[in-house]
Amino acid sequence: MLKINILPEQLRNQISAGEVVERPSSIVKEMIENSIDAGAKKIVIELIQGGLKLIKINDDGCGMSPEDTLMSLERYATSKIKNLEDLQNIQTMGFRGEALASIASVSKMTIQTRIEDNLSGVEIYAEGGKIMKQSPIGMNIGTSIEVRDLFYNTPARLKFIKNEKTEYQDILDILTDATLAWPNVAFKLIKHSEESTDIETGELKEEKSNIVLDLPATEDLSVRIQGILGNNISNELISIYYGGVNVKIDGFIGKPALSRANRNQQFFFVNHRPIKSYVLSYAVKQAFHSLLPKERYPVFIINFHIDPSLVDVNCHPRKTEIKFHDEKEIFRVLSMSCKKALEENVLMPKFNRENINYYQEKSAKGLGFVEFQNLESKEKISVKVAEINETSPVQIDEEKIDQSFQVEDFSEKEMIVLAQLDKSFILCQYGRDLVLIDQHAAHERVRYNLMMENALNEEMAIQPLLMPINFELALGDQEVLNNNKVILDQLGVKIEHFGGNTFAISEVPSFMTKLNLENLILGLVDDLKMIKDYGDSHNVNAFKGDLFARKEKILTYMACRSAVKFGDELSHIEMISLIDQLNKTKEGKATCPHGRPTMIILESDELWSRFGRKYPGFFENEKFRGINC
Ligand code: ADP
Ligand code: MG
Repeated sequence: MLKINILPEQLRNQISAGEVVERPSSIVKEMIENSIDAGAKKIVIELIQGGLKLIKINDDGCGMSPEDTLMSLERYATSKIKNLEDLQNIQTMGFRGEALASIASVSKMTIQTRIEDNLSGVEIYAEGGKIMKQSPIGMNIGTSIEVRDLFYNTPARLKFIKNEKTEYQDILDILTDATLAWPNVAFKLIKHSEESTDIETGELKEEKSNIVLDLPATEDLSVRIQGILGNNISNELISIYYGGVNVKIDGFIGKPALSRANRNQQFFFVNHRPIKSYVLSYAVKQAFHSLLPKERYPVFIINFHIDPSLVDVNCHPRKTEIKFHDEKEIFRVLSMSCKKALEENVLMPKFNRENINYYQEKSAKGLGFVEFQNLESKEKISVKVAEINETSPVQIDEEKIDQSFQVEDFSEKEMIVLAQLDKSFILCQYGRDLVLIDQHAAHERVRYNLMMENALNEEMAIQPLLMPINFELALGDQEVLNNNKVILDQLGVKIEHFGGNTFAISEVPSFMTKLNLENLILGLVDDLKMIKDYGDSHNVNAFKGDLFARKEKILTYMACRSAVKFGDELSHIEMISLIDQLNKTKEGKATCPHGRPTMIILESDELWSRFGRKYPGFFENEKFRGINC
């Protein structure tokens, strides 16, 4: 056996540096946190070679006394906690007292710092954690720390660093977190290109520097979001709020259309600390329910304000994870507040069937034509309508047809059905804008919500069928049906086995009686079989313990199977009925149950600008007519 040695302090620091200061971005993170803890209101970060050559961070925080500056390079030296009680009630970003010591041990570090009480500051230069120089210096209150030649004395570590670009990208990610966590702190990032550094003196030549970020302090998180994540995101956010006794939540979630294929644009902050949490990310996703497809992830920037004694921030070396004492409750209130915000926010422009500015002069019942009159021009037009037949996939409520063309109170905008395109899209005029509606997606949403509402209604109205509808199933398919029979029963769809291959639908919810039930059930069996055959393992697992998820999936399929298809020609009345039904749909009318959009709006201003023109807005004025070229 070899003899046991106690390692010298510098080596100990270098070993522990591996945990805390993995790479340039983790140094930037630790140093920004120190500036924040020092009460800084402005932080300037300067970089050369993705931080490998230089990371310099300057702040206007409280600074350090000369004695504290020397102490700060010792391990476990911190001004932030004193005892176990403090550790359980952490109010600052840092608390372990190891970052500066670790960073210093693997770099050449210069600290310049001044506190308010002293007229001058102090400058300390250390190599590999060893203090080489100390002298007074004239400077403003605050701290400036330069970290040069990172890992110069640990070549093995340097090898693990990928390349300048990746490191720089990682630093940008850290800065994105920090700037979102602290909108009330101004941040500036300056990137110096290599040539702009004087190799002899190491001095930075400002004129070749590139200011990458310059974000002023703001009280308004949405202003900061706009500054760092851009207009595309900041324009499409819905604010959320929850005000509990122990936890408050605020921030923003992106509208469904903003969703991403990954979780990169998801930001959680617990008392300003950026954290990652798959569980809480799922809580938000769950609130979107059928507004997002399975493989899409919502964008969000969410803050938790929680009593520090109710979380453990000391459970991860880089402090990027956190333990909540009551995670279940956090999950619940987070999901609830996101859901509420989504429900309250109309996800598309509101329109009213009542505002259609044509009205019916004659009753449509049984007629091949309906005559409308344009209210403004008084001009009459005839529109061909399909005979109102009971099998129309868009269930037209005959009693409502009379009303459906009547003009009631005008509100701001009117929705006018213009035409059907490609037997697939309904074109409408909405105020001055053009709206294109995906007839299948729109109808799917209508049906899904209706079916879901019915499924959740304890007093579901069931209608026994006078003539049960018989259909046949192959042996393999019978198994699929049998496995889902309990759920179908609960949804009010009663199917009996007649023996052999024959089954009969004997009861359905009243609102479904007019559907083509045989097609619906055969289609549903096909859909359910697909999950089984092609191993949609996510869903199968989700189904196992979760009856609601299984029910929801079945409803999604039934909605799809019973909806108008592409290629179905729709009459004017059918289109109006469909839009009317969509308009009355409370939740999620902007997307189908799979999360695809039900409509696209081409704004009139956009249209004019695409033709190289600007809407003059004075057509009513006779004088300006005819001078449009
Ligand atoms: P911790 O942040 O966990 O306390 P650090 O090693 O990061 O440990 O820092 C050690 C101490 O140095 C801090 O507790 C703080 O007192 C001081 N310090 C570090 N950076 C700054 C700064 N930018 N401004 C003022 N004080 C600082
Ligand atoms: Mg620290």
